Amino acid sequence: MRQQTQARTGLEKDILTLVTEAAPACIEFLRDLVTIPSPSRAERLACERVLREMEQLGYEDVHLDGMGNVLGRLGSGPRTLAFDAHVDTVGISNPTQWKFDPFRGVISGGVLYGRGASDQKGGLAAIVHGVALLQQLGIPEEFTIWVTATVNGEDCVGLSWQYLLNETDLRPELVVIAMASHLGVCHGQRGRTELELRTLGVATHGSQPDRGANAIYSMVPVVQALQRLHGNLEVEHPRLGKGSIAVTGISSRSPSLTAIPDECTIHVDRRLTLGETLEAVLEQLENLPEVQANDASVRVLEYNEPSWRGLTYPTTKSFPAWETPLETPAVQAALITARQVLGREPRIHRSNFSSNGCTTAGMFDIPTVGFGPADEVHSHSVNDQIPLVQLQPAMAFYALLPHVYREQG
Ligand SMILES: [Zn+2]
Repeated sequence: MRQQTQARTGLEKDILTLVTEAAPACIEFLRDLVTIPSPSRAERLACERVLREMEQLGYEDVHLDGMGNVLGRLGSGPRTLAFDAHVDTVGISNPTQWKFDPFRGVISGGVLYGRGASDQKGGLAAIVHGVALLQQLGIPEEFTIWVTATVNGEDCVGLSWQYLLNETDLRPELVVIAMASHLGVCHGQRGRTELELRTLGVATHGSQPDRGANAIYSMVPVVQALQRLHGNLEVEHPRLGKGSIAVTGISSRSPSLTAIPDECTIHVDRRLTLGETLEAVLEQLENLPEVQANDASVRVLEYNEPSWRGLTYPTTKSFPAWETPLETPAVQAALITARQVLGREPRIHRSNFSSNGCTTAGMFDIPTVGFGPADEVHSHSVNDQIPLVQLQPAMAFYALLPHVYREQG
């Protein structure tokens, strides 16, 4: 937090005191969250822990929805704001590469280590405790404020919000995502889609390959074409940059390892920038001469895994890029609030990741901003971590934002 060097408003003075008092409990909560493994679709214990914390902090209407997301409310005004973070984390890869046990919440040198510390348990702890401070700071009477601790964020980004917006009454006019933005303001991200390309061949004995058709050989030029296409993508957005293409998996099918494979499949991670639609991306791949010459099929993958509560909510794995324009009240309020809590001009965070914003802003056009503690370079990596000094400004940001946003109209 900025030290006292200039005149502050009453709210800013109050929030400084409040976050200082609330920080130890927030850190304890974060440590607890990190010690509870919560891979996607197995978030139950972590969700129950969030639920208890919200109840203790005085949230109303604290509940689990049909998918397993945890929600808590403050205020009951006609306009709705939502603060979101996902509860689930990716796995830990090789545990021997970690400096500390990824599930112990070790604090060393002011940094808390553990899986999910940056993505997004740190942000989650900060919104749960930060938004709760509105009870002391004053909840602007026109607002109903929901905190959503959502599931399946790593497995199928934005699915939780498809559920919330399609199946419940939640209709926020602004969504704040507690992403690991290193206390920068994020107002747009690339989208992504997962695709599968397949070539077919004719199986025969491996000793007489010329009598069959090798599906792997048909796929090789396709893979090379995709690698070239990545370097030649043309659509470029001034802030989000270009999309990208990566082949992230390959498999083949053959009657045995002494036979010619009759099928080869690759998995493609295609990031989309603004200006690229799923239709255009599919057309681009289908029109590649190598794809046509080898009769490769292209399809978008579906997601239909049950949530920890057993709900299957199928969706196409296509998550659009999004941007909330700089001049909107949502982004202006985020910038002003960040300026207040940091005491300097905030950085505009250019995220490499996707977040639930692909649903809230990308699919539903709800003004969305990202702001949170921790640096995304540590997300999904060994020694996942969060500098604890960033929790207080994040908490202050979440508590002050509704007040600043109200003034922005
Ligand atoms: Zn992640």
